[in-house]
Amino acid sequence: MSLMTGEEYVESLRKLKLNIYLFGEKLSNPVDNPMLVPSRNSVKMTYDLAQIPEYQNLMTATSNLTGEKINRFTHLHQSTEDLVKKVKMQRLLGQKTASCFQRCVGMDAINAVYSTAYEVDKEYNTNYLDNITGFIKYVQKNDLTVDGAMTDPKGDRGLSPSKQADPDLFLRVVERRPDGIVVRGAKAHQTGICNSHEVLVMPTVSMRPEDKDYAVAFSVPVDTEGIMIVVGRQSCDTRKLEELSDIDVGNKNFGGMEGLVIFDDVFVPNDRIFLNGETEFAGVLVERFAGYHRQSYGGCKSGMGDVLIGAAALAAEYNGVPRKSHIKDKLIEMMHLNETLYSCGVACSCEGCKLAAGNYLVNLLLANVCKQNVTRFPYEISRLAEDIAGGLMVTMPSEKDFKNPVTGKYLEKYFKGTSSIPTEDRMKVLRLIENLCLGTAAVSYRTESMHGAGSPQAQRIMIARQGNLDHKKSLAKAITRIEE
Ligand code: SF4
Ligand code: FE
Repeated sequence: MSLMTGEEYVESLRKLKLNIYLFGEKLSNPVDNPMLVPSRNSVKMTYDLAQIPEYQNLMTATSNLTGEKINRFTHLHQSTEDLVKKVKMQRLLGQKTASCFQRCVGMDAINAVYSTAYEVDKEYNTNYLDNITGFIKYVQKNDLTVDGAMTDPKGDRGLSPSKQADPDLFLRVVERRPDGIVVRGAKAHQTGICNSHEVLVMPTVSMRPEDKDYAVAFSVPVDTEGIMIVVGRQSCDTRKLEELSDIDVGNKNFGGMEGLVIFDDVFVPNDRIFLNGETEFAGVLVERFAGYHRQSYGGCKSGMGDVLIGAAALAAEYNGVPRKSHIKDKLIEMMHLNETLYSCGVACSCEGCKLAAGNYLVNLLLANVCKQNVTRFPYEISRLAEDIAGGLMVTMPSEKDFKNPVTGKYLEKYFKGTSSIPTEDRMKVLRLIENLCLGTAAVSYRTESMHGAGSPQAQRIMIARQGNLDHKKSLAKAITRIEE
């Protein structure tokens, strides 16, 4: 079995015995919990679309390891064309779900770990490439979703991992045994963790020799003993629990999820270890994973942006002002910004290169420029969407009031826009804009645009490092005939 159907994916989640907490309680059936179902549906879409012939060129690939047809989310990129297809696939999924579909972190993690493992083995004669190759084959064969876990809680940001007052604030090895290691710590903001089969842990910063116990990468099933997940809240999340709130939730079927994952002395067998103490490779691994995930945002955020721009255009239409020049101009600006994000995602893919291990890496300078733009443009696109939507987006009464026999007829009457459009359609579009700009999806469209795949300063450091300022100075000197 190389490709699961969406239904098979959901069934496979039911077999996991996850240790998940939400609102102070342990969930007995997380798969069908109404707070989490939309996020599960978004991941399911990565399986559903792979079954549809029209999308298979983007959604599937041929494994370089087995020759089998696999889901692209489990693929090691074999060319710049593969990198471009990845971004196109993410834009498509952003359009279909208007939310975070969560599966990219695992794809980005396997690609970063694979190439790094090859290089560590060359240096230290370790066995990490075999381990990660075996793991990727297992993931491809069973079409699994992998959570790529990088972000440690980090404690005092001014101190390195081994200098923290509490030594567990970065995930670390607490015991080395003949058959494996025992790890303790946590990973924060873990996208899609409750919808994943495996959690692939990586270090989050570059490290010095004294941080040896913290330079660790491995993967274990998400329901391994000692793992606990606490689901994060999202703005307006409990609307999902309300009756008669299909419209009020804004995006009934899809959403994202993040959580804190706690590793309370978790055993990792030897064949699942991909880095263990080789501190000088922690930075390389972080840089590559971040590069891939910064590329990813050029795809997923532009796909979500397409939905938001469409919703803003509909809101203008339903308000009766689609032809006003300032509205048209705002929509043009939104499209310009959105396509700029996509262009950056495509550009860093086209300019990618082959690594020693054989898989392809994005151009890191352009991937960081991509993400730096993502920290800004979705905010401006949201601002323009709110401008076009009007204040009703945040003052509109609830769906229950629309359905109430006393108030409903007045709301129908007074919230009518263009006479040919049902008031309900106007509500739906405004609630979708609210969802993307201020509600549950704002996690992935706005704040995640700022902090996901690294906060803005992280990209600026990489741009400074990759920007080759000396070359630019020598160009200016050559033009002005200043002697080198
Ligand atoms: Fe994928 Fe975007 Fe979600 Fe990251 S934020 S997992 S790139 S959809
Ligand atoms: Fe993300």
